[in-house]
Amino acid sequence: MDAEITVIGAGVVGLAIAENLSADHSGMFVVEKHTAFGQETSSRNSEVIHAGIYYPEGSLKSRLCVEGKKLLYDYCRKYEIPFNNCGKLIVATAPGEISIIEGIRQTAFKNGVDDLIILDQGQVNEMEPAIFALKAIFSPSTGIIDSHSLMKRYEINILNNGGQIAYGTEVTGIRKIENGYLVSTFDQESKRFDFSTRILINSAGLTSDKVSEMAGIVDENLVIKFCKGEYFRLNPPKNRLINRLVYPVPVHNLEGIGIHVTIDMGGGVKLGPDVTYLESNVYDYKVSAGKQEAFFRSASKFLPFLEFDDLSPEMAGIRPKIQKSGEPVRDFYIQEETKRGFPGLINLIGIESPGLTSSLAIANYVRNLISV
Ligand SMILES: Cc1cc2nc3c(=O)[nH]c(=O)nc-3n(C[C@H](O)[C@H](O)[C@H](O)COP(=O)(O)OP(=O)(O)OC[C@H]3O[C@@H](n4cnc5c(N)ncnc54)[C@H](O)[C@@H]3O)c2cc1C
Repeated sequence: MDAEITVIGAGVVGLAIAENLSADHSGMFVVEKHTAFGQETSSRNSEVIHAGIYYPEGSLKSRLCVEGKKLLYDYCRKYEIPFNNCGKLIVATAPGEISIIEGIRQTAFKNGVDDLIILDQGQVNEMEPAIFALKAIFSPSTGIIDSHSLMKRYEINILNNGGQIAYGTEVTGIRKIENGYLVSTFDQESKRFDFSTRILINSAGLTSDKVSEMAGIVDENLVIKFCKGEYFRLNPPKNRLINRLVYPVPVHNLEGIGIHVTIDMGGGVKLGPDVTYLESNVYDYKVSAGKQEAFFRSASKFLPFLEFDDLSPEMAGIRPKIQKSGEPVRDFYIQEETKRGFPGLINLIGIESPGLTSSLAIANYVRNLISV
């Protein structure tokens, strides 16, 4: 075999997996179609270290988020990656939302998030004087991270461990061979290069369903629908009025968790992301200025100081959803595919939020799958 383990995709998840496995496997290879890491979803997100509050009990999303959060804070301290354990408020702004707040606390508790604190209006005002809430939950373990620095560290560690990363190299075909897989790639000059690998890890984000199909797994349940999330920036000086993350109570099927306020490591504040399933799977990162009114109305409920002109279009990201519009929430799909006749192929499909938070825990999970 040319490679022992190959990871397709140098997003935050693929890199975390490769870092973990390269520590004690030689012949680690990462293949990425862009010329640098994290050019897709991993650089177009809220950069929040989620606590693990909302996800269904027993789901991988819940488990890997709670585990991943702890691992990530430790990792940030170890490698001096910028982060801020600023905490987050989930706010009820109408009487009907107060009972939802209590339900959220119970779900979180079952998921092992036992540090949530319920605050009344006065306590919220003390913490964040500029926002309005009748009641709120405070999550002290939520934070933000500089995800570029995190990916850079993963990359450095992979290379220091002797792994190799081939940028500008797109996987276009996968064929099962004896004891492994033959992977066909094209570089940016359209030069073809084929290589064999014993273990193949598909961490291809938005096109992970297509990569799985290349290997021969066609499954209606694993088809990705692109689901766009747009952000608006809160212009200075009002960005200074907010010090923590502020979320409304979430919608019922978790397609998104409501237009919320996130702060970044540079002191910027943005609102978003909203949730729009795209008609077709196109890389559409435009921010529609026409949405400003909807963002303004939605956020005004808890940001009473907000005026329409305080917002400007910021950026957009795309969620790799296997949950179709209107369907109940779906879990991460992370499987070693022996049962389907593809031993040594690990598929990661539908790795939407909290994939960044969970990246180190996902890496441990994949390690266990390949040692079976
Ligand atoms: C709007 C939004 C907000 C989010 N906010 C948060 C948050 O606050 N906290 C959190 O924890 N998570 C958040 N997430 C989720 C998080 O961003 C993702 O779970 C994570 O980035 C997924 O990483 P990945 O490595 O799986 O995918 P990606 O970053 O998409 O990486 C996949 C890589 O595979 C490469 N690739 C694909 N096909 C091929 C091929 N054929 N050959 C070679 N390379 C290929 C791509 O070029 C890409 O670089 C958010 C996501 C979105 C969209």
